[in-house]
Amino acid sequence: MKRIKLYPTKEKSLQRRHPWVFSGACNTKDLRGVQAGEIVEITTQEGLFLARGYYEEGSIAVRILTFNEEEKIDPSFWYNHLYNALLLRQALGLTKPEGKSSYRLIHGEGDGLPGLIIDIYGSTAVIQAHTTGIHLARTTIAQALKNIYNGGLQCIYYKSASTLVTSLPVNEPLDTVLYGHSKEEEVEENGIRFSPDIIKGQKTGFFLDQRDNRVLLGKYASGRRVLNMFCYTGGFSLYALQEGATSITSLDSSAKAIQLLERNIALNNFPVERHTSTTEDAFDFLDKMPKDAYDLIVLDPPAFAKRRSVLSNALQGYRRINTLALQKISSGGILFTFSCSQAVSVELFRQSIFTSALLANRNVRILHTLTQAPDHPVSICHPEGEYLKGLVLYVE
Ligand code: SAH
Repeated sequence: MKRIKLYPTKEKSLQRRHPWVFSGACNTKDLRGVQAGEIVEITTQEGLFLARGYYEEGSIAVRILTFNEEEKIDPSFWYNHLYNALLLRQALGLTKPEGKSSYRLIHGEGDGLPGLIIDIYGSTAVIQAHTTGIHLARTTIAQALKNIYNGGLQCIYYKSASTLVTSLPVNEPLDTVLYGHSKEEEVEENGIRFSPDIIKGQKTGFFLDQRDNRVLLGKYASGRRVLNMFCYTGGFSLYALQEGATSITSLDSSAKAIQLLERNIALNNFPVERHTSTTEDAFDFLDKMPKDAYDLIVLDPPAFAKRRSVLSNALQGYRRINTLALQKISSGGILFTFSCSQAVSVELFRQSIFTSALLANRNVRILHTLTQAPDHPVSICHPEGEYLKGLVLYVE
């Protein structure tokens, strides 16, 4: 195994167990000839072991898999990590015996496995690789998955065409069945049914990270006229319908998302007469929207800042939609507003909402501060993992 020495003073971040090694910290000559995805050992300048991980081209040169010198990256490494992750999801009460569960089993760094996402929908597991290291390990990971579920999985689907960033030539399909046969899954979340579109949908087919925030929305929905902006397959709309909202408007620019949302409403036999969907651009809709038409608005846009370089445009985007929503929401209205951009910190997000409240000239109070559901855990050593930020506001 190749060894990469860090320049003096560069070992501090690993000693704090941060799982990324930046290329600038690595001895340049040690990086020569290392292949993308290759397992390497990181040492101090003196050659003392610090950690073991896999190499990628780019500013994060090595993603750490273990800080334990005794731990080899072999099939039992993957088995143990997946098994521990499953124990956590069991402790969270997310694994149901009747095969209708939906939860995130592996959340990258939050589960000690940078670059890897695994979501479970009933008897289907979806593996998503973000890096070459994970791509190369996919069959070992799939085997470990089969073992931890002990016959409980009927399909392992690999869905990495839209997420994998690699410098290696890729000849094999990146969206493909690794095991079993793909099938339509119907799962249940707090008594609400939904059918994720695993093959064609965004992410792995459903936004599991908003689970607890949907429950909270349900508590405020009764008797309110709800607008669910950027609704995708309608997670928030389903809870609003279940909890007795007077009316619900769901908006997304994707016609396909709206189709899936309508399928989910039908699955639950919810009263369709209380629901309207519209395929439209959110900014146009908010511009045209009359005042006082809604008492509860959800703003859950896609990540406006995928990279730090577009941060200021992203903040402008957040300010614009929040200002419009705050200007137009009825008096006594509730705004659920989110940002899922990793580059936008909690403080920056709060500041843009503060500016929006001033611009809208409304008196705004924070009722709840929200984040991602606990099956998307954040390692205490990797605060960057807290990507979802949300505020629930009371607007006078
Ligand atoms: N709230 C959803 C997840 C939102 S994902 C849930 O809980 O499941 C973001 C969604 O925004 C995507 O479905 C995407 O199609 C939609 N979108 C992106 N840009 C948009 C725009 N300008 N106007 C309206 N919808 C947009």
